[in-house]
Amino acid sequence: MEQLVTRLTSVDHDRGAQGLVWVYAVLSRRARGVSVGVNLQPNNACNWHCVYCQVPGLHVGKSPPVDLAALERELAQLLAEIESGEFYEQHRVDGPRELRDLAFAGNGEPTASPQFAEAIDTALAARARLRQRPLPPLRVITNGSLVALPRVEAALRKLAGAGGEAWFKLDAATDAGLARLNRASTTAAKQMANLERCCAALPTWIQTCVFSFDGAPPSPAELDALERACAAAAAWPSPPRGVLLYGLARPSLQAEAPRIARVEEAWLRAAAQQLARSGLAIDVHP
Ligand code: SF4
Repeated sequence: MEQLVTRLTSVDHDRGAQGLVWVYAVLSRRARGVSVGVNLQPNNACNWHCVYCQVPGLHVGKSPPVDLAALERELAQLLAEIESGEFYEQHRVDGPRELRDLAFAGNGEPTASPQFAEAIDTALAARARLRQRPLPPLRVITNGSLVALPRVEAALRKLAGAGGEAWFKLDAATDAGLARLNRASTTAAKQMANLERCCAALPTWIQTCVFSFDGAPPSPAELDALERACAAAAAWPSPPRGVLLYGLARPSLQAEAPRIARVEEAWLRAAAQQLARSGLAIDVHP
């Protein structure tokens, strides 16, 4: 492993900083500690183009073939260094020294990889070798667009069987909002159907990123639509666990970056109060 030259902080999420291809470690605000990420798209390809995305060179494209043997090797190496404490010393970790999760995240949509299920098996085997008890959970951080594919649904159920959970992106609950913020060719109805399918497959948190775009935070109409979507989800047989409502910690690396700014914490907390009327728990990360 190459030496990390910068301190690992919650605002430094350079996925290549540890010199590995398929895995990386970050300090995660939402996981509240060190998160080991599995990056199935080191080619920076995603099927969405969120205006706030922090992936450099993001482009629409296909996932590359995953070198499962390399993934296994890199996971074993990184987890061993974390367990020995060597990782924290090498990288002068600024924050809680605790491995909080293994997360399928990275530089694209993890479920887009045809080898997503095999990569879950690889991560489960690596996790089983940890001495840490209880074992950290496995998470998938997803835009949810591919949940209806049978292979993805089966993989999510496999995660569920291992005590895993999903963080499902819902930045807007209108067609216009999804097109504007995520540049996603989907509809709010489809996104909600996928969310319901995801919730049925495994424990799921909604994750909603809020920020100011073109000088204004989400409009009252967009916030009302999100509240209605959360209220509808709260009534499902398998409702989401809650909403992770978070502001931007790091700058967008997309062309839209100059049009994006953080919202005031007071605005975020007022939005959380409104969304809480849906009956879902709201976990705020300013
Ligand atoms: S879904 Fe994730 S990786 Fe894809 S564009 Fe959006 S933020 Fe970036």
